[in-house]
Amino acid sequence: MANVNEGAVSKRVPILDGLLSGSLSDPDNLTLAGCKCTSCGETALGSKTICPNCGCDTVKNISLSERGVLWSFTVVRHRPPGNYRGPEPFVPFGLGLVELPEGLRVLSPIKCDIEKLKIGLGLQFRPYVRKDPDGREVVAFAFEPVNEGGAHV
Ligand SMILES: [Zn+2]
Repeated sequence: MANVNEGAVSKRVPILDGLLSGSLSDPDNLTLAGCKCTSCGETALGSKTICPNCGCDTVKNISLSERGVLWSFTVVRHRPPGNYRGPEPFVPFGLGLVELPEGLRVLSPIKCDIEKLKIGLGLQFRPYVRKDPDGREVVAFAFEPVNEGGAHV
């Protein structure tokens, strides 16, 4: 009963169920999952069966845009409590609200030099795979500045 599509990456899990759209075996082609309600027009983050705005079951799951704009941000300068899994020793990082064309804002780490953080900065969705302490591969994401004109690395 092997699942042909998942096979070697069967231990790969999303950072949060329902948050990513696409195959976890191909992180470069993942997008954020969202839903749009056909009753009230609300767009929300994550795949859902009930609209978080009006409670109707008239939601359609969609893939959200990969590009957005930095709406607001802060710089996290101290190691967060709990299960923080970033670099050791701790390195300050940007944490921002990224506004997507669908009209919603997503809280995300922003991967760039903290001196370059600026409201209005064009950003690109960037999924990545990391190992958790149990050896599972977790597909997480950040946003990074759009690389205008250059080849993407
Ligand atoms: Zn609704």
